[in-house]
Amino acid sequence: MYKLKKCVLCGTETSLELSHIVPKMVMRTLKKTATGNIRNSQNPSVPAQDSEKHYMLWGNCEDLFSEKETYFANALFHPYIKGTG
Ligand SMILES: [Zn+2]
Repeated sequence: MYKLKKCVLCGTETSLELSHIVPKMVMRTLKKTATGNIRNSQNPSVPAQDSEKHYMLWGNCEDLFSEKETYFANALFHPYIKGTG
């Protein structure tokens, strides 16, 4: 689903994609390591299945974040979680 708005990173007015506020890899780790369900503060009685998403970036800028997120995940996040980083 798309909405025509300005990309928050570069200002291009186009169809934006839904971006996760908390990356999926972080949510997967939270779900594996949490002692209880992950909850959204706006509706805490229902366990969250996914992190909050908003229309913020268009495809090109979303791809930029995706590349950096992959680098961050491999270089820091996963080694830190495994205790090897
Ligand atoms: Zn942009």
